[in-house]
Amino acid sequence: MRPEEDWIVTENAHPAIISKELWDRVREVEKSVSQGKKTRTGFVHPLSGFMYCADCGSKMKLEYYALKKNGKKRDIVYAFNCGGHKRYGKSFCFSHYVKAADIEKLICDDVKKRAKFIIANELEVKENFISRQTQFMRREQFEKQTELANDKARRKKLDSLIESAFEEKLEGKIPADICVKLIEKYSAERQDLDTEINELEQVLSSVQQLSIDADEFIGRIKKHMRDVLVTRELCLELLDKIVVGAPNESGQPQKIEIYYKINLDAA
Ligand SMILES: [Zn+2]
Repeated sequence: MRPEEDWIVTENAHPAIISKELWDRVREVEKSVSQGKKTRTGFVHPLSGFMYCADCGSKMKLEYYALKKNGKKRDIVYAFNCGGHKRYGKSFCFSHYVKAADIEKLICDDVKKRAKFIIANELEVKENFISRQTQFMRREQFEKQTELANDKARRKKLDSLIESAFEEKLEGKIPADICVKLIEKYSAERQDLDTEINELEQVLSSVQQLSIDADEFIGRIKKHMRDVLVTRELCLELLDKIVVGAPNESGQPQKIEIYYKINLDAA
C-alpha cells in the first residue's frame, strides 16, 4: 500500500494542471452526459453514471475490450476506472481499475440479501422501517401541525381586526390616521404569517412524501431480488451511487460502497 501522502489529491493542490473553473466546467459536462453514456456501438452499460472514485470524487469511466482466444474475439470485458486518472494521469489520481462484472456480482448479492431479509421478516421490517420514518414524522408533524393551526387562527383574527378597524373608522369611533396605522400593523403581521404558513405547509408535504418514497423503495427492492444480472432498470430504481476505493497491492479494489436511494439499514 502506498503511503497516503502519495495519493491524496485535493482540488486546489494542483493549480498548474487545471484551473478550478475549467475543472467545474468539465464536471458539468460529465454530469450532463454520463447518465447513460453510450459506447461507440450504442450500448449503455447498466452502471454508467453511477460509479465514483473514492479518492478524487471523479466519475468513473467505462473501458471495454474484447478478449481474444486463438486469434478470435470472444466476450467483451467491461471495466471502470477513475475518470480523473484517465484524463489527467497519475499526478491527478491513481488507477482504480475495477471489472464491471465484479461490481455487478456485489450488487446482485447485496440486493438479494436485503430483499431476503425483508421477505423473511416482512411485517417487522416494514413496521420498523416505516416507524423509523413515522416516529420522526409524528413528532415533527404534531409540532408543525399545531403551529400551522395557531398561525391560521391568528390570520383569521387579523382579518377580522382589519375589518373592525375599517368599521370603527366609518362609524366615526376612531380617527382616520389611527385607522391607517392599525391596518398597516395588522397587514404587516398578516404578511409574515402568510410566509410562515407557506413554509409549514411545504415541510408537512415533504414529510408525507418521505413516507411514500420509503414504501416505494421496499417495493422496488423486492421486485429486483430475482434479477440475475444487474440491469439498467435496477440501477436507476435502486442505486444512488457506487463508490470505488483504492486498489490494494493484489490489484483488487479495497472497498466498494453501495449507496441506495433509500438506506434500509439506517438504524
Ligand atoms: Zn480518482
